[in-house]
Amino acid sequence: MKVNVAQVRYKEGESVHFDLMEEFSSLDLETEALSFQTPVHVQLQVNNINKMLLVYGNIQTEFKATCGRCLATYVYPFSLSFQDEWVFRTQATEDLLETALLLDKDEVDIKERIFEQIVLALPMKFICSAECQGLCPTCGVNRNLTPCHCGENDINPRFAALSKWQSND
Ligand SMILES: [Zn+2]
Ligand SMILES: [Zn+2]
Repeated sequence: MKVNVAQVRYKEGESVHFDLMEEFSSLDLETEALSFQTPVHVQLQVNNINKMLLVYGNIQTEFKATCGRCLATYVYPFSLSFQDEWVFRTQATEDLLETALLLDKDEVDIKERIFEQIVLALPMKFICSAECQGLCPTCGVNRNLTPCHCGENDINPRFAALSKWQSND
């Protein structure tokens, strides 16, 4: 995912727009609960302001996610607007050295930077819907698909013995 900033590099007030699309590897997500379903679409507006490049970006893609309650897979649409700062290493102030994307030449690969933005914005847990009933802890069925007859107050005999033992503790 490469962009070339030669067009905006030298002229204050100049701006350039990029529209990029690329496949990202699901392995990099390091979780089996999530994989990229579609390529990642990135739109960027890069503005030359005060000897640095101020970037307004939007990232869109779709994930295949596994619900943490019912274990069903579902499509999780992802859309993120973000701001970023890019600066040529030789012009970077101390603050920018730590936070900005540092450029050494006009062409820069932003894939890793975009991937970081995505990972930071992902939720901790994936739930297919707020109403997801999850799996029945007693019989294990997906309660969204099959209502079961295990009452909320019924305790599995295997666990009844355990809870009795615990209450004697
Ligand atoms: Zn679910
Ligand atoms: Zn049940």
